[in-house]
Amino acid sequence: MYVEEVLREYELDMLTIATLASHSSLQIVHGAKTEGFRTALVVLRDRFWFYSQFSRLVDRFVVVDSWSELCTERVVSELRELNAVFIPHGSYIEYVGLDCAASLPLPIFGLRSLYRVEADQWAKISLLREAGIPVPRVYKAGESFEGVVIAKLPGAKGGKGYFVARTPQEVARKIESLVRLGFIKDPSEVLLQEYLLGVTAYFHYFHSPILGRTEILGADIRYESDVDGLRRVPVAISLELGLEPTFTVVGNIPLALRESLLPEILELGMKFVKATQGKLPPGIIGPFCLESVIDRDLKIQIFEFSGRIVAGTNLYIDGSPYSYLYWEEPMSTGRRIARELRLAIEKGQLSKVLT
Ligand code: AMP
Repeated sequence: MYVEEVLREYELDMLTIATLASHSSLQIVHGAKTEGFRTALVVLRDRFWFYSQFSRLVDRFVVVDSWSELCTERVVSELRELNAVFIPHGSYIEYVGLDCAASLPLPIFGLRSLYRVEADQWAKISLLREAGIPVPRVYKAGESFEGVVIAKLPGAKGGKGYFVARTPQEVARKIESLVRLGFIKDPSEVLLQEYLLGVTAYFHYFHSPILGRTEILGADIRYESDVDGLRRVPVAISLELGLEPTFTVVGNIPLALRESLLPEILELGMKFVKATQGKLPPGIIGPFCLESVIDRDLKIQIFEFSGRIVAGTNLYIDGSPYSYLYWEEPMSTGRRIARELRLAIEKGQLSKVLT
C-alpha cells in the first residue's frame, strides 16, 4: 500500500506534523510541539501575518495562494522532505475539495475512505443508522412529512444553505431558488431531517487503534448565527420580519454533561467505531464527533457526525474535564493526535494510524 511506500522513505524519528492553517491548526501544532514533534503549517498568503504571531509553535510555513495548491507537486514534495504526516481537520475537505482531500499523496492521520461518505448526506445518515445509533426521521424532497424539517445540502459547509420548512411546498420553493443560485444541481441530493426539539450537544471522541479504546475527550455547544440570536427576538416580531434562521457557526461554548448521560454517550461513540470498522476497514482512526439533540426526556438523537477533529475541541487546548480523567495531564485533542503518533512510532505500528 502506498502509505507504507512513503513511510519507507521517511526518517521516522524526524516526523513533522502538518496541517492547513485554519480551524483547529493552532491546537494541533501546540499538541504536536508538546509531544516533541516538528510542525508545518500550509498557510494562505494573506493569513501568514496572523499565523506568524505563533511562530514558536511552527517550524515551517508553506505559503500558498489558494488551498487547492495543497495537492500540487511543489507543496507535496516540500512536505515529504519534512517527513510530514498530514492532520485533516473539519475544514480540510471544504477547503481543498473532495478529490484532492481523498487522494493527497501524503500519509494522513485518519480514515480517508470516510471522506466520500461524509460528502453525501444520505450515506452519512445510513452509516449512523447501520451503527444502531438513533437518528431523526429523514425524507426526500417531494415527500410528505409531519412537523418541521431542516433541509441539508451535500457537503458540510458549516450549515450554509440549510433551511427550515413546514410544508413540502415550502421545501420545493426553497430548493428551486437554491438550484437557481447554483448551490445545488440536483434536488435529490438534499436530505430533509425531522427538526429535533431539545438542546444541541456535540461530543468529541478519540479512537485509539494503538491502545484499542475509544475515549470521550470533551463536549461543546455551537453558537450559531443567527438561530441563537433569534432567541433574543420575541417570536411574534421574528415572524413579522419574516426572519429565516441560519446556522452559521460563530463559536463554541463548553459543556459538562450530566454524568448519568456519559455511559450512553460513550456507547454511541463505540457503536460508531464498530460500524466504520465493519464498513470501511480499518475503521475510524483518531478524533471524531457525534452531533446530537437531547430532548426533555433525555433522549439522545444523532443528526450528524464528523470523522475529523472539530473546532469545539479548541475550547480544551489545556485539556478537558474528561481528557484529564484518562491522562492526568493537559491533553487536548491536538495533543492526543500527537501522542497517538508517538505511541505508534514507539511500538513500530505507525501504519495502524495512517491511511
Ligand atoms: P449540521 O451541518 O448537520 O451540523 O447542521 C448545522 C446546524 O443545524 C446544527 O449545528 C444544528 O444547530 C442544526 N441542526 C442540524 N440538524 C438538525 C436537526 N435534525 N434538528 C435540529 N437542529 C438541527
